[in-house]
Amino acid sequence: MHPDLPNLIDLQAKDRTLAEAALALADLEAEAAGLDAAVASARTQVTQATRLAADALARRTEREAKVEAQRANQEKRRARLEQERSPRVAAQLMADVELGRSILAQEEGDWLRLAEETTTREAAVAAAEQGLAAIEAEQVEARADLAARTAGAQAAHDAALDARDAAAELLPRAIRQRYERLRGPKGKTVLYPASGTTCTACHTAIPTSRVGVLRGEGMLLDGCEMCGAILYLVETPA
Ligand SMILES: [Zn+2]
Repeated sequence: MHPDLPNLIDLQAKDRTLAEAALALADLEAEAAGLDAAVASARTQVTQATRLAADALARRTEREAKVEAQRANQEKRRARLEQERSPRVAAQLMADVELGRSILAQEEGDWLRLAEETTTREAAVAAAEQGLAAIEAEQVEARADLAARTAGAQAAHDAALDARDAAAELLPRAIRQRYERLRGPKGKTVLYPASGTTCTACHTAIPTSRVGVLRGEGMLLDGCEMCGAILYLVETPA
């Protein structure tokens, strides 16, 4: 058996544990992002409802000013009508007062509609704010639970990282570097047992000369020519 093989197998096992711990942490981060997204969505609804309510209020205020102006004009026309002595001019003023009355009625109708819309919009803001508060209240427990699980997962991850680094320290630098380069950032499995004269990673035949090295040293650190896997000889008890 190659003298460094047990430590190398151990390092690969510890790297696998570390990768699982990192995945568990990532899952918890995704869970937290889901909670944040629910709050953000409720907050967006409050913002939108608030904008619509402010818009309705502005239109209602604008309409109020028009109604007031129209009322003042009507008062002036009526006052002039009372003073007017000429029947011809009085008839014209009467027609103006009639027209003004219908315009005022329409303006008042519009104002009423906008007042109702404002009330509806303001109720929608209150509902959206309640919705946001409800989601935040609902999440208190879930967030506390998530924080506890994240702390646990982080501790497990840190411990796995320490264990992995300690295992790596036991290997000669050249073997460690070779292993880490083959493993790559995605954490591929690089160490495979050789089954007879075949690479178990890619199932291609190992050339005869390399089978000799494998038998002699117990490990093919150069790796399989096809897939790069580091191959090792499994010693079968005689
Ligand atoms: Zn291979």
